[in-house]
Amino acid sequence: MSATPLDDDRLFPAEPSVRGIARRLYAEVRALPIVSPHGHTDPAWFALNEPFSDPASLLIVPDHYVFRMLYSQGISLESLGIPRVDGGPVERDPRKIWRVLAEHGHLFRGTPSQLWLTHTLAEVFGVTERLTAESADRIYDRLSDCLGLPEYRPRALFERFRIEVLATTESPIDLLPHHRSLRQSGWKGRVITAFRPDPVVDPEYEGFAANVSQLGEISREDTTTWTGYLRALADRRRYFASLGATSTDHGHPSAATFDLPRSEVEALFRKALRGDLSPAEAERFRGQMLTEMAAMSVEDGLVMQLHPGSFRNHNPHLFRTFGRDKGADIPTRCEYVRALKPLLDRFGNDPRLSLILFTLDESTYARELAPLAGHYPALKLGPAWWFFDSPEGMRRYRETVTETAGFYNTAGFNDDTRAFLSVPARHDVARRVDCAFLARWVAEHRLGEDEARELAVDLAYTLAKRAYRL
Ligand SMILES: [Zn+2]
Repeated sequence: MSATPLDDDRLFPAEPSVRGIARRLYAEVRALPIVSPHGHTDPAWFALNEPFSDPASLLIVPDHYVFRMLYSQGISLESLGIPRVDGGPVERDPRKIWRVLAEHGHLFRGTPSQLWLTHTLAEVFGVTERLTAESADRIYDRLSDCLGLPEYRPRALFERFRIEVLATTESPIDLLPHHRSLRQSGWKGRVITAFRPDPVVDPEYEGFAANVSQLGEISREDTTTWTGYLRALADRRRYFASLGATSTDHGHPSAATFDLPRSEVEALFRKALRGDLSPAEAERFRGQMLTEMAAMSVEDGLVMQLHPGSFRNHNPHLFRTFGRDKGADIPTRCEYVRALKPLLDRFGNDPRLSLILFTLDESTYARELAPLAGHYPALKLGPAWWFFDSPEGMRRYRETVTETAGFYNTAGFNDDTRAFLSVPARHDVARRVDCAFLARWVAEHRLGEDEARELAVDLAYTLAKRAYRL
């Protein structure tokens, strides 16, 4: 899709002397192992190690960044092979799906999707021509041939990508069969899970009451009582940790936390199980659960991640037809200073808690998040996330947080992807943008080049390992 093959200086400053610094910094980090502490790849890929079936189901169908753009231009999700909830007909020929992308490559100009796909095609498959309607079939055939080779199996790619550790994300009611078999397989690749309790702590999540009752069955606790419910959650956290989890992840609509009296919490819990909560009560319950999760983290050491501010499933028609995670999640305004206070009043000074904050509202970086993370020992800032996981988003992030939070209250990079083959591309973009940022500060004599060299390694590698206790 890009106009040129991958240029070695991409994303570096245009001014030659600053570019020279960026090149030197990048040379220090280019080949570092990848630490991927937060993402959404499928553990079955690595457990079963079967060949990926075809280019479309590898690069298009799981990537909501790709198909949301196509959808916005009137291309149906059916034509892209996205499965319908009702099992209705969708395109099944991967070559046809691939052609749809190729014919619309121009839509991705200037987007990170274009950078990631160009990188993936060039570095993983050795494709040096641009993806167009004309080249679509040639490139498809090449990818298809590659995917049949042993070196393109999931584990071989994991090793080739130099991934040191990769976390997936699972719900407490997932029995983690793939993570279990990975542990027993003898393969050296480190694929771990992360504990994402939204389906059992968010009363507005689809099937909440049934999920909580399933949680009870799995953990052999009585989850119709508040204490049994908490015991069940603690039990599942222990199980996740036994399969390598070092973190929890919370995808709440807001950053609200509460520390309510026990009688109120128990009443809310009973109503939640009956499906009787008002939206305001549901918000109080979710917020209480964040504080409960922080209390458990203090005990079991799991690092907490909070990903608030996404208006999930904004398009009800799309949600009914295709389900969640189909590119219809839209950022909302977010507030942290008051919202986090109940949780921070209890645990903000406790060095045993590590809470990594993300945002989809960039206006909060300079005003709220950097000051909070620059003060509370329990807080760190996650990287530019989702819509801001882009060169401009990362640059703005460094510009707005560094002067208040420094570099060392940040948590390194997350690729946060469902698209496994884009993992190296995403880390490479982050490394380049950080080196470009540091190069500018070196050129302005705000950092010594020796300091910038150390920082480049920390931002690309060390900080993520440390923040996620890996
Ligand atoms: Zn995520």
